Amino acid sequence: MESAIYIVATPIGNMRDITRRAIDVLSEVDFIAAEDTRMSRRLLEQLDIDTPMVSLHEHNERQKSQILIDKVSAGGSMALISDAGTPLISDPGYFLVKQAKASGVRCIPVPGACALVAALSVSGLSSARFSFEGFLPHKTGAKKAELERLISETRTMIFYESPHRILETLRLCAELFADRQMALAREITKRFETYLTGPVNEVLSIVESDLMQQKGEFVLMIEGGAQLKPSSLSDSQRTLLKSLLQELPPKKAAALIADYTGINKREVYNEAVALRQ
Ligand code: SAM
Repeated sequence: MESAIYIVATPIGNMRDITRRAIDVLSEVDFIAAEDTRMSRRLLEQLDIDTPMVSLHEHNERQKSQILIDKVSAGGSMALISDAGTPLISDPGYFLVKQAKASGVRCIPVPGACALVAALSVSGLSSARFSFEGFLPHKTGAKKAELERLISETRTMIFYESPHRILETLRLCAELFADRQMALAREITKRFETYLTGPVNEVLSIVESDLMQQKGEFVLMIEGGAQLKPSSLSDSQRTLLKSLLQELPPKKAAALIADYTGINKREVYNEAVALRQ
């Protein structure tokens, strides 16, 4: 086995999604660093692999990485796995890889399942360009601010979300993105996998009215906005909007300017959000 750190993808639900190469690497390395050793032990038992494991998670990654890197530097080999899917994708491992590269240790990917790629591939939304946003902030205010920042994003936006926050997140998305197309992938490769597509408002209604649709793991995707058209606001109207934004939230300021000018409220709102940034 070549001395290196192998970044190994594991299944996101269906255990058959492990690759042959992942099995070979996990069997042959000197040790496996796992996010949650108890959870990964179940996977390894199913695969008949008894490679020793150490834990490497977000709370000990900084202290432990160098010790593991030193072992590999001395000629050893290790694999990094997370609880599901590809390590480093909203999962630990970034510090380890960064540090390993700085120490001249090779990092080799063993690709496989990844929820965002699986979800995007069946979303029906543009996959030519996309922006992976990971998890949104938990607090409502910060989450809304982050979504407002994305109003002018033209690429498909991809978010991870948990069952505790899916409804609130969808409601905020409906407020800001209303009739844009979206896709919601739930429990990919698992027993109750579901894919909902349609305008954000409609997907929200379906999820609100069906408790089952609020359970499990989610990937939420929203179509990017149209390339910004040249603004309909004149320079003086934009200056007035800027002044109002010093005192008022974008929604209120935009409503006043839209009333005053007769320009579409959403267009003024989008401009207000862009100006505030
Ligand atoms: N590293 C993983 C990957 O490659 O996708 C993601 C880990 S992240 C901590 C976990 C989040 O990924 C979940 O909260 C959910 O948003 C998404 N996810 C993981 N497995 C999923 C599945 N089977 N169906 C839908 N979303 C999933």
